[in-house]
Amino acid sequence: MFEMDAVIVAPRWMERELAEASDTLRTIYGLEVQVETINEDKGRYFIDQNRNQVNGIKLLGYLRVLKDTKLPTVWLTEFDLYINNFNFCFGLAYRNIAIVSLFRLRNQNEKVYISRLRKEISHEVGHLLGLKHCADDKCVMYFSNTIMDTDNKNEHPCSRCKLLLRRLSSGISTHRA
Ligand SMILES: [Zn+2]
Ligand SMILES: [Zn+2]
Repeated sequence: MFEMDAVIVAPRWMERELAEASDTLRTIYGLEVQVETINEDKGRYFIDQNRNQVNGIKLLGYLRVLKDTKLPTVWLTEFDLYINNFNFCFGLAYRNIAIVSLFRLRNQNEKVYISRLRKEISHEVGHLLGLKHCADDKCVMYFSNTIMDTDNKNEHPCSRCKLLLRRLSSGISTHRA
């Protein structure tokens, strides 16, 4: 759908997650994925000692400077994230950068864990490509308040969001031309 590249950056020990994340972006959005591994989880520098969680906004600000790119870029972190008034967030996206936290996706059942991961990746990249939240609770762009919302939704955007994506992608190719 999108004739462009996306970048996924993760600590090198997240091999399985990297493979699933790349496959998700290829399958759902038709993105060419560049995978980059790093030696540490950057979340560790932004832990709020009182909450024992990572300040998502601060981490995002840092990552923007660390890797200056125009491509949609997703960073994976092991740490639990929070922003402003929320107790936690599964991920966040701003302009071309997104962060997805694995922390609350973990499950003894590997299939459940991977399915959650794919949905959260798909959701945040949906934002990077221009989608907003969707009212359809089966759509990947539905806002997850709890992990149950994530388990309930699909990894794909609904037909309405797909249509929006097609418009956005044609807008991008016109712009590029
Ligand atoms: Zn969202
Ligand atoms: Zn939708």
